[in-house]
Amino acid sequence: MSAAPPNPSSTATAGSSSVWSALEPHLPKVAKPARYIGLEDGAPASERAPHKVGWLLCYPDTYEIGLPNQGLQILREIVNERDDAYAERGYAVWSDLEAIMRRERIPFFSVETHTSAAAFDAIAFNLSAELTYTNVLNCVDLAGVPVRSDERDETHPLVVVGGHCTYNPEPLADFVDVVVLGDGEEVIGEITDVLREWRAEGKTAGSRPNVLRALAGVEGVYVPSLYDVAYDGPFLAEVTPRFPDVPERVEKRTISDLAEWPYPKQQLVPLTEVVHDRLNVEVFRGCTRGCRFCQAGMITRPVRERPAEQVRSMIDSGLKRTGYDEVTLTSLSTADFSGIEQTVQDVMDLDTGSAQPITLGLPSLRVDAFTVGLANKIQNARRTGLTFAPEAGTWRMRQVINKLIREEDLYGAVGSAYSQGWRRMKLYFLTGLPSETDEDTLGIAELAKNCVELGREHHKNPSVTVSVGGFVPKPFTPFQWFGQNTEDELRRKINLLKDATRKMNGVQLKWHDPRASVIEGLLSRGDRRLGRVLELVWRRGGVFQEWGEHFDEKLWLDAMAECGLDPDWYIHRHRTEDEVLPWDHLSAGLHKDFLWMDWQDALAEVGLPDCRWTPCYDCGACTGYSIEHIVASATPPAGGSQGTGQDLGAGHSVPVELTPRIPQGAKP
Ligand code: SF4
Repeated sequence: MSAAPPNPSSTATAGSSSVWSALEPHLPKVAKPARYIGLEDGAPASERAPHKVGWLLCYPDTYEIGLPNQGLQILREIVNERDDAYAERGYAVWSDLEAIMRRERIPFFSVETHTSAAAFDAIAFNLSAELTYTNVLNCVDLAGVPVRSDERDETHPLVVVGGHCTYNPEPLADFVDVVVLGDGEEVIGEITDVLREWRAEGKTAGSRPNVLRALAGVEGVYVPSLYDVAYDGPFLAEVTPRFPDVPERVEKRTISDLAEWPYPKQQLVPLTEVVHDRLNVEVFRGCTRGCRFCQAGMITRPVRERPAEQVRSMIDSGLKRTGYDEVTLTSLSTADFSGIEQTVQDVMDLDTGSAQPITLGLPSLRVDAFTVGLANKIQNARRTGLTFAPEAGTWRMRQVINKLIREEDLYGAVGSAYSQGWRRMKLYFLTGLPSETDEDTLGIAELAKNCVELGREHHKNPSVTVSVGGFVPKPFTPFQWFGQNTEDELRRKINLLKDATRKMNGVQLKWHDPRASVIEGLLSRGDRRLGRVLELVWRRGGVFQEWGEHFDEKLWLDAMAECGLDPDWYIHRHRTEDEVLPWDHLSAGLHKDFLWMDWQDALAEVGLPDCRWTPCYDCGACTGYSIEHIVASATPPAGGSQGTGQDLGAGHSVPVELTPRIPQGAKP
């Protein structure tokens, strides 16, 4: 293995002291120094004390990407409300500051008090994207902490990861101590209890393994070092616990009632520009639409809505406190919130004392009349653009992915939006989907062209931006068995679209780099053997791989070759039903046989309705945890029609014929 970058651990600042005096003189020399100074409204310095457990909650990307992350903001508040713990935040430092820190031996730090990361009991990372994994290694190394978990002892903090990517944490298994599956609100307290005991006992020599063992007993906690992995040739044979008290299968955590967790109560207001710079209020968690490509929808089931009254009061108090004049209602599909119509009206009627009108954002729009009607209702909304996500260009393809939007639905919604004053549309699509033909791919261009033509009925220069991503199969989805398209195939499909849209006035095409999609695919379904690859890539400078200017495919392919691993085998191979998958010893609550049957239905182009409004088909997400969907109102919204779960066209309902695979009420 090649030499590691200089590690700051050996010098004085890796302790409990602030690094500020060493850091501050260098800030004028780096880009965006405000990334590193903290001082946000809503983030008073934590109250530290020797008996308290310290958490450093990190986002492994830049401050402006990581600051708005709601998960970290929620957990920071929950920890700081305890009298036996405190939490601060850390973000990956950009390469200009990193070079200075390594040269001057300044360790990774928290932005609140600029305390060295090594002084905390746990450094926890939110993992939202696979291409940030090498940043995790870099932050740990910059903290002066050994990157491999088996080289750490009780003088080092625990390295913890949570977030959606942890549903297959195996590529990171050599580097992390603790993996948290599912909602963090409750489990962070239970982990804190274990760490408090460890602190109280003085973290005696040799005590780290005992703490890891205790943590493995906390529901939702996976400790990779406590499992043996066996292979059968290139295939995974089994992953088994090394001790009888360590669970064979780790179940995710699910909070049953969002109403009990009205966080963040003090959303952070940064001093510098960040993404999603507005008030964000989560209206529900989970999604049961059943889009087969969507990992987030699958792993966060069941649906748990926040009471509409609580949403209103969080918006009211949040806007008044922060001074924002823009609020976004966040979820995986906000138009499905059963209290949406009244909530929107209430927001429009709010008097926050601000001279500016309130702007309401509704992300994740589905194509339905309700949503467009809603948009029209928002009198003060900035009419800069609307985003829809049909995801695929033909009805056949949308049946395969279970995104059951008819073309007339899309045209109805888009036409209504244009007629109500919107001029610009953004349409999201995926390419490289299972069974996709060129006709399906070119259907994307056809839809875009027709949308622009609709716009011309209302405006002189309407525009449609088509954004195309390369599909990456994810664990715990029905597409987890699918062999991902090669880089060449993805590029060929994008070229088809480029040719088709070149002469379409008003249509702009944007696409995701296929090279990044295949490396994302490598990590999303990889096993522990990829740990060596990750380490090699990181040691050779491969950080910020999700940034176009830093991404380096050659680093990954060279490392794979050096480790004797075949990228095709990992990325482009179809898996069989009986294959042991690297995440089979973890559970997102979904029955594997349900996912397999849904995969077979996908190939047969059979749709599956939204179980929120139809009888349960026992995917496992509710039945396994004795939880049911919690909705703010008892009646489905317009888009969540009984029986079909379909989107509605603008002003009209289009019944969609579905063939439920499982008879109503029956178990598979
Ligand atoms: S267990 Fe039933 S109701 Fe719950 S998410 Fe699965 S299919 Fe839907």
